[in-house]
Amino acid sequence: MFNMSGFSTSKEELQHVKVLILGAGPAGLSAALYAARADLQPLVLTGLQLGGQVSLTNTIENYPGFPEGVGGTELGELFQKQAERFGVKVELDSAQSVNLSARPFKVTTDNGKYTAETLIISTGASPNLLNVPGEVGLTGRGVSYCATCDGWFFKDKQVVVVGGGDSALEEGLFLTRFASSVTILHRRDSLRAGAILQKRAMDHPKMKFIWNTVVTEVFGTDKLTGVKVKNVQTSEESVFPTDGLFIFVGHTPNTQMFSGQLEMENGYIKVDDRMHTSVPGVFAAGEAADSHFKQVITSAGMGAAAAIEATRFLEQEAG
Ligand code: NAP
Repeated sequence: MFNMSGFSTSKEELQHVKVLILGAGPAGLSAALYAARADLQPLVLTGLQLGGQVSLTNTIENYPGFPEGVGGTELGELFQKQAERFGVKVELDSAQSVNLSARPFKVTTDNGKYTAETLIISTGASPNLLNVPGEVGLTGRGVSYCATCDGWFFKDKQVVVVGGGDSALEEGLFLTRFASSVTILHRRDSLRAGAILQKRAMDHPKMKFIWNTVVTEVFGTDKLTGVKVKNVQTSEESVFPTDGLFIFVGHTPNTQMFSGQLEMENGYIKVDDRMHTSVPGVFAAGEAADSHFKQVITSAGMGAAAAIEATRFLEQEAG
């Protein structure tokens, strides 16, 4: 394929690599660092979310080595810089399909085709939608899934945050920098988030809480003007005017591409305690394979483990 100036815009040729890593979040870049230091010249395909979910987070306070916390984007860039120092190649490209039925594994991407002796899947997870009327149409017009990306647009506005987990409180606290008020709307009467975040949120003068309540509809023509809410205990419905709706109701692992080829459980790729999937030579790490911990540090640890195992796998094969 050629663009107007005659330069090639796709790599039609087949590229062969020893270790192909899908995803450039903490898991993928940690795997890349370890594989590069084992001299396996890994290639990382970033996917659509550069830097993974961590890069959408304003501040990470629980990644060791950063006593004052570190910006999510900054941490992602540091991961990449460290990996590249050892020769890791990071391509802005997204896998579209894989064939794991025989080795070398085949991966077709937006820009080309790859064969890989080993594959490390670190495709992460994407934010869940509420799936209520109006939500999709008003996304980017008041409805958002990323406070770090969009918070700035809500200076002196009233915003609503849906969810009761760490993300809802952390991102809600971030929004208090801009918004005049942040109302957390939660479907139960107790939060899932950790104790420190709970205390910070409860103590914050701009944060308010509405309990036992769900959003049933999102209103607005060109931009969001309000949400319809329902108390799940009384079934009472009302309209809540708001300029911004930030939705943090969990994530779904980005694993659809591997369905039918790898063993899965509730959408997560099944791995053993050494990150081996059901197909020898294919490893998985981070939120694509972790329904439980979902922390930056656990994802990074899984990535390192996956790369160590990929290295051993290739060594054993070589004899
Ligand atoms: P989460 O822990 O799964 O919380 C999702 C929240 O959304 C829950 O409170 C849940 O309510 C609510 N919810 C789910 N579906 C809903 C729906 N359809 N309508 C209304 N509410 C709904 O997700 P998360 O907060 O994104 O966190 C994911 C993981 O990342 C967790 O392991 C978390 O610890 C981690 N994380 C950690 C940090 C940190 O350590 N600083 C920061 C962010 C995330 P219920 O409580 O009723 O289930």
